[in-house]
Amino acid sequence: MFLDEQVQKLQRRVRNIEQNPRPEFLKCTKLRYQLELERYLHVLEAWKQGKPFAVSDSIDSILQAMGFEAQGYIAWGDRVSNPQKYYDIAINKLGFPDQTCDRTITALGLFLSGEVPIPRLMAARRIPCDPERWSLMAAAKFTGVLFLELARLNNNGDENIRCIADQEAALIEYAEKSVPGIKYDESKLIELMEADQQSLYYLRDTYELRKRVPCPISPQDSFRLMTMPSRYPNPARVVEYSKAYRDEMFERADKGIGGVREEKLRIAWLATGPYGRSTFDLLSKKGVSIPWFHYGRAAHYFGLIRDDLGDEGKYGRKLNPLEEMARFFNTNTWAGPSTDWVDPLIKACRDLKIDAVVDFLQVGCIPTINLKRITAQRLKEELGIPTLDLEGREHFATEAGTINMNKKLEEFIDMCIANKG
Ligand code: SF4
Repeated sequence: MFLDEQVQKLQRRVRNIEQNPRPEFLKCTKLRYQLELERYLHVLEAWKQGKPFAVSDSIDSILQAMGFEAQGYIAWGDRVSNPQKYYDIAINKLGFPDQTCDRTITALGLFLSGEVPIPRLMAARRIPCDPERWSLMAAAKFTGVLFLELARLNNNGDENIRCIADQEAALIEYAEKSVPGIKYDESKLIELMEADQQSLYYLRDTYELRKRVPCPISPQDSFRLMTMPSRYPNPARVVEYSKAYRDEMFERADKGIGGVREEKLRIAWLATGPYGRSTFDLLSKKGVSIPWFHYGRAAHYFGLIRDDLGDEGKYGRKLNPLEEMARFFNTNTWAGPSTDWVDPLIKACRDLKIDAVVDFLQVGCIPTINLKRITAQRLKEELGIPTLDLEGREHFATEAGTINMNKKLEEFIDMCIANKG
């Protein structure tokens, strides 16, 4: 069963860190795994008690503030240890396509497997990542769960903020009427947003450190996404983790500790991290640092986009809490106009002395394909750096897939190191 497997996996990871600490990795990762473990245990307990769950790809804080238990969806699909079991449900049994990105299909299969709670509500965003939205829609359709979509207007101004906040208010009203015991608590939402913002400030402090040579973070740690306190049962502990992360990064940078033994190349990695140890090991062995992992929220998290909770500058007025959520929603640069995606990438590459870029395409990912040409072209023209167009699956069906992907990556790394001299 998925949730029990996650608990066991995280217990193993914590034990492993205690018994075999590795100097290249951040020590605070142990706390991160403990928080993840706590979260899965909390889900199991809440499920046992019959509490109402809800799924969203972007408004977890609002769901929590209504009294829902926020449940993972795509992120859980990423963590399955036996993907074939879930493909069998989604592809072989229900006829969903096998050429779309793995995570949307494993998430759907997992959701329909009965191994995770069936939520009372699912909310998705209308953005160009159709596979994710369709996966959520299909999950809701097959289980009869309430499904709502939030739109995103093309402009980023006041009209957009008001429009999304109106939709959030409608969602709250709908949920309060439809699900017994659900009641929106605005003060709870503010508390959660403040915890998220505090964590973000800690993370942002580490941006400057990534300019150091050697970069103080290992390739594997570079791919760890920020943990949002609002998604955990004990947000204050997650803020503590973010502080510990920042402090440890400063300590490593002060002592000149690098994330790889001898740094030979600095790359930015785009879109989705590679899955599996072998790619991390390859990067480490070759002396490749990853000062910048460019994903949808990275530019905002690290301060390349400044549009923070309580800031009255951008809109010329104080935003109400639902508008603040809409503001946060809009800072995601993924799957929007190419300038949203590429402008901060160019800035990060310039700031962090990036030598080369790997644009990683998870097979079936429509937004990545659409952005590839313009991304590589601008990196070449504005910074003179090469981009590797790399394809991979989250779950390769055979070992040969990973071997081929890593071979292509290795050839590119060798070429860049040789050119760097
Ligand atoms: S990898 Fe691409 S297609 Fe898949 S969920 Fe992410 S953005 Fe959507």
